[in-house]
Amino acid sequence: MTAPHPTSTVLVINSGSSSIKYQLVDPAGGEAVASGIVERIGEELGAVKHVAHGTTTKREVPVPDHAVGLRIVLGLFDEIGPDLAGSHVVAVGHRVVQGGALFDGPVLIDPQVEKQIEDLSPLAPLHNPANLTGIRVAQALLPDVPHVAVFDTAFFRTLPDAAATYAIDADVAAEHQVRRYGAHGTSHQFVSRRVAEVLDRPLADLNQIVLHLGNGASASAVRGGEAVETSMGLTPLEGLVMGTRSGDIDPAVVFHLHRNAGMSIDAIDDLLNRRSGIKGICGENDFRTLHDLVAAGDEKAALALDVYLHRLRKYIGAYHAVLGRLDVLTFTAGVGENDDIVRLRVCQGLEPMGIVVDPVRNEGRIGVPTVISPDGAPVTVLVVPTNEELAIARQAVDVIGA
Ligand code: AMP
Repeated sequence: MTAPHPTSTVLVINSGSSSIKYQLVDPAGGEAVASGIVERIGEELGAVKHVAHGTTTKREVPVPDHAVGLRIVLGLFDEIGPDLAGSHVVAVGHRVVQGGALFDGPVLIDPQVEKQIEDLSPLAPLHNPANLTGIRVAQALLPDVPHVAVFDTAFFRTLPDAAATYAIDADVAAEHQVRRYGAHGTSHQFVSRRVAEVLDRPLADLNQIVLHLGNGASASAVRGGEAVETSMGLTPLEGLVMGTRSGDIDPAVVFHLHRNAGMSIDAIDDLLNRRSGIKGICGENDFRTLHDLVAAGDEKAALALDVYLHRLRKYIGAYHAVLGRLDVLTFTAGVGENDDIVRLRVCQGLEPMGIVVDPVRNEGRIGVPTVISPDGAPVTVLVVPTNEELAIARQAVDVIGA
């Protein structure tokens, strides 16, 4: 049976420094009508993948810049489908990483918004310029539809000052916009709202912790639908142990490595973002491989998993204290949805806090919203798959009022 033809769609674009990910989404039904990625933009040979009508098309062609990349994507929609002209594209939704203190929700993109995204680039030098390039290229190629920016930080604009403020010289902080902005906000917002729908309880009544555990990982505390804490900070480096990122460390590690190991600031940036986390400790950052190594007796892998779980447990305890009362704990993203070992082990020992996982309900990969705590447990533990593209598409539709 084929899905009914959507009455409207949103093209969601996530433009990175050397890639463009895209998805054509039916915001009402929630389906991805088509999706794909252009990678290695600017290299000798780029890679393009387009998935539509159940088939995957791959091409290796030169993609010198984002404009060529997006033109190739539009060409694939023409050639393979679905036909964009017939897909009733009502908006293009752009993922923008850093909205700073300026944006607390999605906005229609105009020249002033573009300038503001540009001005925020010092806070996300790898991401905002790439996001802006994607916006400009898409506007030029699709001038007749509204373009909407959805910020990864927006959900965390409600953080109380006590949670958002770093305890450093206030003048320095103000001058250089040094505060905690968070990241993965689109996912935390989507999942925390979905939890209320799934449990059929008012969002306003729920105190929640959401654990977004993917290659990047973050935790949030959400009271009545509003974020009150999150683990990522000025950048997505703070907080949980991640695939390749350190998460929390003593900032003096940076001075130590600079002064005593002779490492440059760029080298330390690379170390903490790309050669740390699970990979830094044991050489692997995919949890499937990690578990295989642990099962084979690899001590470094076992340590990496212990460090990861220990940090997570600390955050759950801290956020429980921030919230005062905890109703729901939810796992999402690649590890959170698929890894029953992580879910079970992180909750072991938390029974006195009311957090219990039923091993049978928890078993295996979980692709639909599922309660994994026993009936009647004080804290409802859930797995809820995230869908950032759908969240962006729905926010874009809200902005344009379609
Ligand atoms: P994400 O960033 O949300 O796409 O998550 C990617 C990560 O999810 C990968 O690096 C893996 O560590 C993890 N992952 C994906 N599938 C599985 C699985 N079946 N079991 C355990 N971990 C998984």
